[in-house]
Amino acid sequence: MPFRDICGQDRPITLLQRAWTGRRLAQAYCFTGPSGVGKRTTAVALAQAVNCLSPTGDVPGGEVADACGTCRACTRIAAGRHPDVTMVTLPADKTVITIEQIREVAARACLRAYEGATKVWILDPADAMQEPAANAFLKTLEEPAPGSLFILVTTAFSGLLPTIRSRCQEVRFTALDETHLRTILERGGHTPQEAAEAAAAAGGSAERAMSHDLREVRAARRRLVEDVWGGLGSLPALLTLAERLAKDGTGLDDAVETLLAFTRDVAVARVEPSADLLLSAEGRSEVERIAGNVSLAAALRVHAAQREAQETLAWHAQPRFVAERLLLEMRAAVGQK
Ligand SMILES: [Zn+2]
Repeated sequence: MPFRDICGQDRPITLLQRAWTGRRLAQAYCFTGPSGVGKRTTAVALAQAVNCLSPTGDVPGGEVADACGTCRACTRIAAGRHPDVTMVTLPADKTVITIEQIREVAARACLRAYEGATKVWILDPADAMQEPAANAFLKTLEEPAPGSLFILVTTAFSGLLPTIRSRCQEVRFTALDETHLRTILERGGHTPQEAAEAAAAAGGSAERAMSHDLREVRAARRRLVEDVWGGLGSLPALLTLAERLAKDGTGLDDAVETLLAFTRDVAVARVEPSADLLLSAEGRSEVERIAGNVSLAAALRVHAAQREAQETLAWHAQPRFVAERLLLEMRAAVGQK
């Protein structure tokens, strides 16, 4: 996949494209950031750019260069069958990159490129090299053959030897926002509604979004809504629930988002019960049940409390405090003492 098709990582990609266009590429990069946000895809795109047989914009004064994505070199790199582009990953039965794998890299690093202009090694996950392998790799990094490019991919930059870190230029990748995740999922064949649901539950990771079983996500959301609304009558149950939600890390953001969408539907159903305006089609019976038991004013007060919780979380407030306050506000809104 050429750079231009990668979603949501404009900053690292611009940096790499400019370096490539200006012939200023470093010999070794380390792509860091959360999992599933496009680090390996970008590494492959860079391998394509430097080996492409007809790169776009690759002329003096031309626009920034990119691979064509369709020539023999590009298609072979994408398929993992290019002799000058090597992916060093975890062997099937191992949790570490072995010293034998690194020795093979070292032996081939001093040979000339077969076909392409640049020999590329992509090590992913680079932090899976234990010390002997890492030290062997360091030797290769210290005396690189001309025309080699090393791309280390990791979620844990601090897990690499300092001597390796100091020889790599770090390129940071960030979590993907929901708009980009939705685009990626829709391109992958999801309907807009499925894409929106999976994107909201994926915590910024395309990998997680694509692996999400939507039925599981929906079931978990239904359970959450039932637990929260069903727990409002009992103070001890509510405080236990707040503790559980707060422990769930970034899950609290997702939980509040789910509750907000549900409350929105409850408010809409209060005003226009028969209208086809609900967001969560499959939760309709639960929406109607709650809407039959609370006033519009109460639903709006719950909605306001949930919005406030969302904003407070964005300021990194104590999750336990936010969850307790939210549930107590909801309890007060629906008229429980
Ligand atoms: Zn090409």
